[in-house]
Amino acid sequence: MRVRAAVIEEKAGPFVFRDLHLDDPRATEVLVKIHSVGICQTDIHVRNQDYPVPLPLVLGHEGAGIVEKVGAGVKGIEAGDPVVLSFPSCQECSYCRTGRNAYCEHAFEICFGGSRLDGSNALHWPDGAGQNKAIHGHFFGQSSFATYALADQSNVVKVPSDLPLELLAPLGCGFQTGAGAILNALQVAPGSHTAIFGVGAVGLSAIMAARIAGAASISLSRLGLSREHP
Ligand SMILES: [Zn+2]
Ligand SMILES: [Zn+2]
Repeated sequence: MRVRAAVIEEKAGPFVFRDLHLDDPRATEVLVKIHSVGICQTDIHVRNQDYPVPLPLVLGHEGAGIVEKVGAGVKGIEAGDPVVLSFPSCQECSYCRTGRNAYCEHAFEICFGGSRLDGSNALHWPDGAGQNKAIHGHFFGQSSFATYALADQSNVVKVPSDLPLELLAPLGCGFQTGAGAILNALQVAPGSHTAIFGVGAVGLSAIMAARIAGAASISLSRLGLSREHP
């Protein structure tokens, strides 16, 4: 199908809107019509080639939208479902098989490889576009800076239909990073004192999570400007 995507064509270059072709979903894949997508610092790191992800590339890894079509092997997700797209995992390594998908052995290739794990790519230049470098997608299993994204069932999360997708999109990376650090990794206990360095989307999410966890104090530091809230 024809999609429109924001493409990074050169290191530190601008996002250029291009018409591309996106293949149909494979057995475990989910085609999502993107409604909203957050911009995370990691998108900008990759645009600047701090990570060696091949260009040209469609970035975007905080997508949210409506399921358009699912592969034959997808269970529990169907066309019309509102979903948030998060990070993918291989589902087969020892970490994935024991529920620790965030530590997937293939996390780097699957998120930053610019292709599926088998090296294939669902995004193509349309016939006659005259481009001599293959376009890369599957960034964090989605490449959601586009009108449609192809995710895997491992990184699709169904959400209630009465919640605004534009607010849910950043849950896929930035918000869960900040909240997960507090609630899962640090397991902040009620009455704890918490310090958060950096108050962007991740830090603000950590603040909300620390409040929910019952932290007695939350100290913030940003660009030399420090504040403390009871
Ligand atoms: Zn991110
Ligand atoms: Zn894995």
